Amino acid sequence: MSNFDETFDFVVVGSGGGSMAAALMMRKLGKSVVILEKSNLIGGTTARSGGVMWIPNNRFMKADGVEDSYEKASTYLDSTSGQDDLPAASPERRATYLREAPKMLEFLIEQGIKLRRIPHYPDYHDHLPGGSAPGRTVVAELFNVNELPKAWAEKLRPSAIPFPAHLDELYWLPTLTRSAKGKLNLAKILLRGLVAKLTGKSIAPAGRALQGRMLQAALKAGADIRVSTGVASLITENDAVKGVVTEAGQRIGATLGVLINAGGFGQNQEMRDKYMPGTSTKWTGTVAEDTGAMIQEMIAKGAAVDQMDTAVGCQMALPPGRENPGDGVIFGTFGGQMDIAKPHSIIVDQTGVRYMNEGSSYTEFCATQRKRNEIVPAIPSLWIVDEQYMKTFMFVGTMPGKPKKQEWYDSGWLKKADTIEELATLLNIPPATLKATVDNFNADVRTGVDRQFHRGERAFDKWLGDAVAKGHPSLGTIEQGPFYAIQVVPGDVSTTGGVVTDSNARVLRADGTPIPGLYATGTSAASVFGRFAVGAGSNIGPSFTWGYVAAKHAANASNLAG
Ligand SMILES: Cc1cc2nc3c(=O)[nH]c(=O)nc-3n(C[C@H](O)[C@H](O)[C@H](O)COP(=O)(O)OP(=O)(O)OC[C@H]3O[C@@H](n4cnc5c(N)ncnc54)[C@H](O)[C@@H]3O)c2cc1C
Repeated sequence: MSNFDETFDFVVVGSGGGSMAAALMMRKLGKSVVILEKSNLIGGTTARSGGVMWIPNNRFMKADGVEDSYEKASTYLDSTSGQDDLPAASPERRATYLREAPKMLEFLIEQGIKLRRIPHYPDYHDHLPGGSAPGRTVVAELFNVNELPKAWAEKLRPSAIPFPAHLDELYWLPTLTRSAKGKLNLAKILLRGLVAKLTGKSIAPAGRALQGRMLQAALKAGADIRVSTGVASLITENDAVKGVVTEAGQRIGATLGVLINAGGFGQNQEMRDKYMPGTSTKWTGTVAEDTGAMIQEMIAKGAAVDQMDTAVGCQMALPPGRENPGDGVIFGTFGGQMDIAKPHSIIVDQTGVRYMNEGSSYTEFCATQRKRNEIVPAIPSLWIVDEQYMKTFMFVGTMPGKPKKQEWYDSGWLKKADTIEELATLLNIPPATLKATVDNFNADVRTGVDRQFHRGERAFDKWLGDAVAKGHPSLGTIEQGPFYAIQVVPGDVSTTGGVVTDSNARVLRADGTPIPGLYATGTSAASVFGRFAVGAGSNIGPSFTWGYVAAKHAANASNLAG
């Protein structure tokens, strides 16, 4: 038998999305639980994120009169994630997700976590059977971090969003110069910030609010949470996981099991080269601790992995001085999907040919870019816009119509020319090819139909497009010089491949048998949605849900939480 320095009923490795949901369930069942976090900060990439959870058929949709059902959501998952035959996205796992995710939500609410719905955030493939145009997203209410004990408030990881704002308010800000709604939402955010300052509040948005609320509830429930306590390895006896060894050499036993919620491998270039060639640790929004080390440790203990070439994409145009978004302050500093999906904008490969629907979700965008690169150089690709775009829309964090930094031109990062042919020459693209691409696109725009890639036909594309468009929200000609171009790379905000788990979140071997005592959730495990991001919250929703499922199973209490 192992000699342990300490023993808990349940040990959670990493303070990611599912960690505190699992801890709350364990505490509700009267079990002891410890969360061991490698970083000196709590909350992982989840705290830095938008904090959106994709939870179909949830109570907030019902309250808003938005139609959904288990059957409808199931049809949607069949037409997306069910298209590939992947063990992590098996029919049984998808069904379990659809059953357990709304229950997990009710459980959080019962534990005092304040949540709400984003009123309009379409599924990423809303045009497919079962898709929802209003969307199935749930987020936390804004959270006053000063409600936490001071020592914990300081340990809550900062957000990528530096404003005390709801995501649906932020959505309108780029229209600030053109809409009353943009101005109103800015005023609301500024006023909220002012009131918070005057009343001594520190308002966290998005993922920080979610993880702040979870931390508050988990501490109150009596979970033991430790920072700067990385786990180095798993302790096994007769192939069953019995505990962990920390980086400091402490041996911690787990009578009911160990849950790995230690993130993916966004920051591991070696694993990227092996599983996702052509991508870089410089292009990820994940936290520095997202090293894949615990995935490797689980592989060493016999775990099967899958979907290792998948990621939640995040198209990036990184200006000089902002080449590495990994410091977390990414909001507004690079052109992402919200910029590129606007009218008067296209993406072309390095031969000057358009190859995608620019209004796709970030995951579809970057997966398409990586696939294109297998046949034609497309990493980086080139983002082409015209003066109409520059006058109307934000460009890499700069306001519409404002001059762009001279440094951007001087460094050659932003290219500008009076004609498309001259722009092509600056880009080393055959001028005739780029001209033909733009002419074809413009011809389609004039008919209002993107015959090649169907941009603007989904509710989602339109949502990403121009919210206050007088004409088409997604399509606009590229015809008024000067013309501009910058490079775009397929970045990501998480890898989504990892160990294969079953419907109880147990880690499986290649032969399909579970490794006793070992559970995984979040980006340490292969996604239940397979190769798809089905809607906003495709990572955090499952991370919370599988954490909750794992805790119920480990405590042999699958029926207790309803
Ligand atoms: C700006 C941004 C916005 C995003 N918005 C959304 C969104 O709205 N919805 C969505 O679904 N996804 C979003 N994502 C992606 C999402 O945030 C991540 O996929 C998700 O949070 C990963 O959660 P996780 O549960 O896997 O764990 P994480 O939140 O990644 O946490 C893992 C934790 O484990 C710790 N750890 C690592 N190794 C060890 C070890 N050996 N021992 C102990 N601890 C360890 C890490 O330090 C980290 O704290 C966004 C990402 C970014 C960057």
